[in-house]
Amino acid sequence: MANIGYIQVVRHCNHFCGFCSNPTTPYVHTFETMKVLVDDLVDRDYFGVILTGGEPSLHPELPRIARYATERGLHVRMITNGWRLADPEFAKEMADAGLKIVHVSVYSVRPDIEERLRGTAGTLEKAFAAVDNANRYGIEVNINCVINKLNAEHLDENIRHWITHHPHIRHFVWNNLDPSMGRAEVNQEQYTPRLADFEVSLHRALRLLHQSGRTFRVEKVPLCYMTEFAWASTETRKIVKGEERIVHFLDAKQTVRQTDWEHIYADGCSACTLRPICGGLFDRGNAYDPGELYPVFVDRDAIVEKIIHDPRDPSYEFRSMDAWRQDFERRLAEARSQPKRPPQVHGDQPPASMSPPDAPAVGLITEQGLRLFEAKRQSEGRKAAQHGIALERREVQTPAEPSSEKPDP
Ligand code: SF4
Repeated sequence: MANIGYIQVVRHCNHFCGFCSNPTTPYVHTFETMKVLVDDLVDRDYFGVILTGGEPSLHPELPRIARYATERGLHVRMITNGWRLADPEFAKEMADAGLKIVHVSVYSVRPDIEERLRGTAGTLEKAFAAVDNANRYGIEVNINCVINKLNAEHLDENIRHWITHHPHIRHFVWNNLDPSMGRAEVNQEQYTPRLADFEVSLHRALRLLHQSGRTFRVEKVPLCYMTEFAWASTETRKIVKGEERIVHFLDAKQTVRQTDWEHIYADGCSACTLRPICGGLFDRGNAYDPGELYPVFVDRDAIVEKIIHDPRDPSYEFRSMDAWRQDFERRLAEARSQPKRPPQVHGDQPPASMSPPDAPAVGLITEQGLRLFEAKRQSEGRKAAQHGIALERREVQTPAEPSSEKPDP
């Protein structure tokens, strides 16, 4: 299986998004603590790693850990706001370290909207420079976009911009807003869209990409809101192929292993032909309305075939429908024999079953990390007041004593 793990290398950021779901914590990483996590993914036979944050490019050891992961045979990617990649020297350094794909996140190509969402001026120019620098040094560029209330009706306008001005970009990823964690949780009113808000513009955007031969993935969007392109749903692909995902969170959650891609469903879902391969409504945080779901009556197997026969994704071992059915039935029976996962209202406390007992510790809490955290909270408190948003909840679970281990210089 082509499993890809995530390592949060830092949790601070130079932007200030009002819906950030992974804001600052007191945890820090040294090269050694990150190395252990790379080794963990290698031991689990993972295909690749995504270095993320916070803003991962703010970690001084990022090129070194990217190089180490490459040397260990992992396919290395990074999710970034692009600010540092706007510097060609840094882009070259990351390319030399083996970075294969960079996901640059841009929410809107309308400068005023992007600035409002980022809480920071001038980010769009930097992101445009970043995608061109990455391309120049041979790093494949994907664009990541969080769907939210402010960009919901112009997702297709964004795509038209990318196709026209940066035609080298061939792959796009959307994530519908996760309203359960960080600042997203406390600012739901301002940022959480209704599904109907983005249905038309998302469909237009996907059509534009499909017609131009580009590829895409969409996460946390129920299939009834992307039926024509259901094969591009991240959850559906993982359900069909039986994939898992490990995230090494640089906070009290530590390591989370996700194998169950089903979220919540409405009564009408039981009549829907796509129910067995649909992730449903991602509604941790109780911000979305299950009343927006509606059953669809389309051919499930046609979607499965498209996924298991995808020539660009050779990761699934069973390539015939009969073999898939057997594999799927076996996995379903196994899942049904497990105790039902308790509903998770917000993201801070994953159930114990999602914490692998053999996972290494993620990061450290040091005196210096605590001091930086306190300073960052104060400056972010000022930014929050300035932008009219609420700061994330203060409770941060930390070990009783900071570690005596010193971060790398
Ligand atoms: S009705 Fe339910 S099962 Fe069907 S596509 Fe929508 S969310 Fe998925």
